[in-house]
Amino acid sequence: MFDQPIGAMSARELLSLSEDAWGTLRDRLTDGARGHQDGLTARCLRCESRVFIQTRKQGERRLPYFVHYRGGDPSCPWHHGSSLSIDEARAAQYQGQQESRTHRMLCEQIDELAKADVRYVRSTVAQYLPPTENSFGRYPDVYIEWQDLAPFVIEIQLSNTFQTEISARCHHYEREGINLIWVLYGVDPTTDDIPQSFRDVIRRHRGNAFVLDHEAIQASHEQKTIVLKCYLKHGEGAYDPPKLVRIDALTFRGQALPYLEDRITATLKAEINGQRAAWFKALEPYRDNWERTIVHAPAVRDAIAALSHRFGVISSYGPGEAEEIAVVRLIAIVFTVISAANGHFRNYATRHDNIRAMLNTLLNSVEEMQRYALLIEFLLRHSNQHNLLSGKVGEHIERAKAAAEGNLCLEGEIEWQIMAHLVPEVFNRITREEMVYLDELPTWASVVT
Ligand SMILES: [Zn+2]
Repeated sequence: MFDQPIGAMSARELLSLSEDAWGTLRDRLTDGARGHQDGLTARCLRCESRVFIQTRKQGERRLPYFVHYRGGDPSCPWHHGSSLSIDEARAAQYQGQQESRTHRMLCEQIDELAKADVRYVRSTVAQYLPPTENSFGRYPDVYIEWQDLAPFVIEIQLSNTFQTEISARCHHYEREGINLIWVLYGVDPTTDDIPQSFRDVIRRHRGNAFVLDHEAIQASHEQKTIVLKCYLKHGEGAYDPPKLVRIDALTFRGQALPYLEDRITATLKAEINGQRAAWFKALEPYRDNWERTIVHAPAVRDAIAALSHRFGVISSYGPGEAEEIAVVRLIAIVFTVISAANGHFRNYATRHDNIRAMLNTLLNSVEEMQRYALLIEFLLRHSNQHNLLSGKVGEHIERAKAAAEGNLCLEGEIEWQIMAHLVPEVFNRITREEMVYLDELPTWASVVT
């Protein structure tokens, strides 16, 4: 931990500097030890003894590392001359200290950055925050109030923060209506095999990893606010190059932890759209113009082939062109209902100009569609079109159920699996639940009562 404005610097950051950069720091630390005016002080985060930068040659390279001055706290596991093995030292790093020194020094640093912002109203470091609704309070690492921004808490996550603690804190602040930002310290998500508890926090932040490092602290000083380094998740275990981001540039929304870009939902939505794209393309030429010959159109054949490849068969009523036509029309009905629910009615299944007429006609007179009454009912029930069930459409569904009787397509059968693939927002319970949890279930799939 250097004097302000440099602040915390990990050994890894030191190693990443150019020789000129770390060499200058080394010079200034030595100057500081001798009482020069532009000298610097740096302290061990573990024992707060003063440290300096020593070098060691490794192959062709000269590497810098922090070393305690002689006379520092000899019980510090990072003390020069310590006989601890690396593993022992690691284990001892934060051992048993609810409020380790590292933790406290980082909190104080963030608090100082918060105070530099012109909007500063008040802040606390590890102080009891009285709850507004329930009976017990918490000690947030740093609680900050700035004008024109909702109050927020910054919690610093070191590698020893447990999943249960993360969960408890998330829920506590959610109940209290206080925004929570987890800041990771001492990791680089792009190169480290980061611990599970860090991954959990990154996921809760919608695939954003916020790190406080030397660069972020420097940018904070320059911009007179809190700036964090943000790594955006990009696929499995991969991250975009980091960006420096101001706290007030983050999206704060409802119960979700703040984020710069929602990488989790974005990935999920892209996947879903990808699964539907071929069918939208295939059905579009038949909009308001349904014909049984649709199954001969090349784009429809391709889309059917993709489903057959994935599911083996596409109809639970056996092979054959009539069955194919029925499944394609079922998909057309489902997409039409979604378009209506979405407020942009597009009829792929009949030539009617409204969803009621389309459903009533098909459920009333088309035998191959009557057998999908349960599936259509399920779709309506899990969308903003559920009111249709209490009107004529509901009556037609009941009649269709009676007419198809023992031949109804039941949940779990192949057509339902196809729908879980194409419209997971409704038919895949896991995806639907995930979207509800992320507060990202589309309005059309939400049951508004
Ligand atoms: Zn030390």
